[in-house]
Amino acid sequence: MRALDIIRKKRDGGILEEAEVSFLVSEYVKGSMPDYQMASFLMAAYLNGMSDEETLFLTAAMLGSGKKLDLSGVQGIKIDKHSTGGVGDKMLLLVAPILASMGLKVPSVAGRGLGHTGGTLDKLASIPGLRTDITAEEFRENLNSVGFSIMGQTPEIAPADRKLYALRDATATVESTALITASVMSKKLSEGPDALLVDVKCGSGAFMKTVQEARNLARLMVFIGERSGVKTAALITDMDNPIGRAVGNSLEVKECLSALKGGKAAPGLTELALSLSAWMLHLADCVTEETRPQKLKEHMLQRYKNEIWDYIEHGDAFKKFVEFIDAQHGDPEAAFNPSLLPAAGLVQAVVSPGEGYIKKIDAYAVGRAAMLLGAGRERMDDEIDPAAGILLGKLPADFVKAGEPFATLHTNRPEALAEASALMIEGLELSAREPSRRKPVLESVLAGE
Ligand code: URA
Repeated sequence: MRALDIIRKKRDGGILEEAEVSFLVSEYVKGSMPDYQMASFLMAAYLNGMSDEETLFLTAAMLGSGKKLDLSGVQGIKIDKHSTGGVGDKMLLLVAPILASMGLKVPSVAGRGLGHTGGTLDKLASIPGLRTDITAEEFRENLNSVGFSIMGQTPEIAPADRKLYALRDATATVESTALITASVMSKKLSEGPDALLVDVKCGSGAFMKTVQEARNLARLMVFIGERSGVKTAALITDMDNPIGRAVGNSLEVKECLSALKGGKAAPGLTELALSLSAWMLHLADCVTEETRPQKLKEHMLQRYKNEIWDYIEHGDAFKKFVEFIDAQHGDPEAAFNPSLLPAAGLVQAVVSPGEGYIKKIDAYAVGRAAMLLGAGRERMDDEIDPAAGILLGKLPADFVKAGEPFATLHTNRPEALAEASALMIEGLELSAREPSRRKPVLESVLAGE
């Protein structure tokens, strides 16, 4: 078999056999296939698409390229959640400690930022000393002692995704249903979870712009999860506006710490964290009861949310976060004293050009602006500035006067301020009439739908 023939076949719209997909992945992971050939394959797959069967082959090949984590020594139900990528999406840092405080185990192999979207590993790297390049043994120990652990892909765990993730980011091939599915599901299945919730982001700041695209992605991931014996559900959630007030690594960690301490959080942030956690509790119940995940009725959703709220209010979830920082070599003092987290040298307000209710603060514009300020990577090997980002002083449905600040830019790059500010103003949509607050969860997707 030759990589060149397989690339040509995909370029010409052909459908690949399992052996061909598996050959490409194993050659690439071994280092026998150069980046330029894989990049060419990715672009062919992006442009021509991959059938559901090819996507299954790709997921299996990526999963098979590494080892599965052996969590047999970890007691309790193991459940994870994964987002397909958003702006200000810090949800894992909220739901993992919440669920761990409730007795569940949350093993998570996470990623760095992709494109204009943030990544959990980059957010965690802003906590002094904290490491996500831990061994499988440490990961298991943390699951047993703390209840949750987060690590990056390694040469053993999800090695194909480790290499492909970075290459896709640098070759404009991220926004593909097949490539996202294989990336997410190979990583998640390598954790050996009992249950999985996928948060499929939809809107201007997401890789899936329409609900129909998000549904296709959600259905495929749920199908693969369930087929692998993992109780799986997906929520399609709004990504037209950033989540919460903070975008950028250290700023987002500070926002999470404040929310976990019971501080006043943005309504959308709390609502989404409660909804995701509630669905994860439902999936965990399905594991215990050996039942199929069902659509959650409003009263059940509310019952789960009330239960979860107790663990936030009583400080249990915050305590778990502190234990996690300590277990992963970070300075736990940073959780109590956020001034120990990186802060930018320059903070500049962005003022509204007009008066009215805020209809939208476009998530893509905010994500791009945050990248310019230093919060994301333009290229694979770019360094991230953990302090860079944006804080939204006003949120959708708030009223703003002309000349009033609605956001602040945080950066150490003075040269980026003008362009970032212009992007923010471009992304601001005002309306004369008060808009209703958008619900963060648009719909749920279960197996067989
Ligand atoms: N998250 C992933 O893990 N992979 C993708 O391709 C997109 C989001």
